[in-house]
Parts: sequence; structure tokens; C-alpha cells
Amino acid sequence: MKQAVFPGDGSVNLVDMDMPRAPDDWAVVKVEAIPLCTEYKGCFAGDTNPRIGHEAAGTVVEAGPRATVQPGDRVVMMPSLACGHCEICESGFYMHCENWHDYQAVQGTVAGIGTVCQYIARPSFLLLPIPDELSIERGGLAGCALGPTFGAMQKLNVTAFDTVLITGLGPVGLGGVVNGHFRDARVIAADPAPWRADRARTMGADHVLDPTRGDPVAEIRELTDGRGVDYAVDCSGNIHGQRFCVDATRRLGGVAFVGECHDPLAITVSEDMLRKGLHLVGNWHFNRHDYGRLLQVIEDSDLLDLLVSHTMPMTQIESAFALQQAAESAKILLNPWE
Ligand SMILES: [Zn+2]
Ligand SMILES: [Zn+2]
Repeated sequence: MKQAVFPGDGSVNLVDMDMPRAPDDWAVVKVEAIPLCTEYKGCFAGDTNPRIGHEAAGTVVEAGPRATVQPGDRVVMMPSLACGHCEICESGFYMHCENWHDYQAVQGTVAGIGTVCQYIARPSFLLLPIPDELSIERGGLAGCALGPTFGAMQKLNVTAFDTVLITGLGPVGLGGVVNGHFRDARVIAADPAPWRADRARTMGADHVLDPTRGDPVAEIRELTDGRGVDYAVDCSGNIHGQRFCVDATRRLGGVAFVGECHDPLAITVSEDMLRKGLHLVGNWHFNRHDYGRLLQVIEDSDLLDLLVSHTMPMTQIESAFALQQAAESAKILLNPWE
């Protein structure tokens, strides 16, 4: 089977690998849709980690003796290699499981460890059924396209009474526009890239701003009777976007951090938290028990054709990465069989 590897020079090779296996409660999935997240950043940074991609949907082709799925089942893969049995996994917030499986120890190979390939293997706990009426491509949007911002809005309890700010309109943030709309919230979206801002406007964001120009916090205050937004969801994954969320949110409001970021963010407890009473929360994907609700978004939103901007063959992954790097795409789906 074909699998993407990064040689470390900013290019992508598709190499032949052995098939992964389905021991115990694991299953092998023929991947039919690979939504791209931020893999391009690692590629261009010279990363050579074999785990490329964490989103996939497809059809089960082999199931272990204790698997909860059967060959023929259409499934969307949840990220992580969570154990599926501990207290945290049972709570539904399995992303925070401390007992992740060691893929290489189980499989004896890195074939199928990432998702930019033709077959993956996963514990069946992480394979959720796609309803018959949904295509596999649509089911795949339960990955990072919609999952992280859905989870954030569940935690913040964003409703039709609220104004929500989404910072960063890349492969995760534009899904925040979908989720905010689905809840009938007023959506303010922020990104400096013109293509992304245009797409958010087309998707019906109530206001779109460039956070690198002028005084974006003052702009937010003008839009919210001087108060600030009720909630903010940072999908930019940079400290400027994060700080903007903290400053743009009203007293007693809430901020969810969704975008990965390894740089320290300056927060002043008295000014930012005690006086403002802000609720700050990190959110990594969504609670597995809420999958049915996320499916409602996928089934009923009329914005999903806009959320997916490109469907491309896996052989054109370098072109897909170039589009992402240029910030001229929404979600891109790869087909590993073309
Ligand atoms: Zn666990
Ligand atoms: Zn992702």
C-alpha cells in the first residue's frame, strides 16, 4: 500500500509499505477520504516523523477478534491512540488518555500510523460509524474540520444569545464558522489571509476582520456595544491570536484554545482573570459521547460544500500543501486511490 513520508526537504514521497494488521480489538480500515489538517507545517519545517495525518474516513476491511466493528462498516477515525478503557476514555474525553497504545509495538511497523496512506489500523474504540445517509467524505468532517471547534463550543455552551469570535480560519477555524452558525450565534471571524476571510464571508460570518490591522480589540468593542464578545475560540495557534481572544472577550465570558501552540502566552491573573472573571479552557477535539450531536451538524448544515474547498488525488499532496501554505484553501480532502 502507498503511504506518505517526508524526507525532510519540504517534499513528500509516496512509498510502498506492508499492510497493517488487526490484532485483538484493532481493525484495518481502507482509507477513502483524508482531510488535511496542518501537516504541511511539519513538511515545510523539515519534520521526518512517520506519523503524517490524523484524520481519515473509510471502510473496515479486517477486524480483530475483540473489535467492535465489522468488515464493511463505514467509519470515521478519531485521532489519538487512546486505550479505550480508562476512566478518562470512559468519560468521553479520550484524547487526554494517559495510556495511549504504542503503535509500533502493536503493529511491528509504522505502516498506517498516520492517515496519509491507503490503509490504517486503529483500536476499534476510535472508529465511529458513519450513518448510511452520509457519504464517507462527509463523515470525515467529524475529524478536525468540525470536531475541535464543536468541542470548544460544547464546553463554552455557545448559544443563539451569544457572539462568538473565531481567530484563525484555516483547516480548523472555518469549521468554527459552521459550528457557530449551527448554534445561531453571531459569528465574528478573524484572519489576515484574504482568501480565508472571503471564504468566511461567503459562509455567512456576520463580520470578518484582519487582526493584524488597526486596533482589532477596539473593532470588536464597536461591534459589541463596548462589551467584547461573549466567547472566543482560538484556532490560529499563535500567541497573537490567543492574546486577541483574551482581550476581545467580555467580562465573565469564555475563551477556548483549540490551535496547537508551544510558545508561552502571557496572562496576568489579576487583570485578565480575577477582574474580568474570564473562563479559559483548552480543548482537544470533542467528547466521544457527543458524536451524535456532531453528526447533526454534518447532516443539517448547508455550509459543508463551502467548508471543503478541494478534493484532490493523494498523488497531488504537494500541490495541496502549497495551497495550504498560501492560505488559499478551506478543508482539502485527499483521495488515496487516485
Ligand atoms: Zn484511556
Ligand atoms: Zn487536526
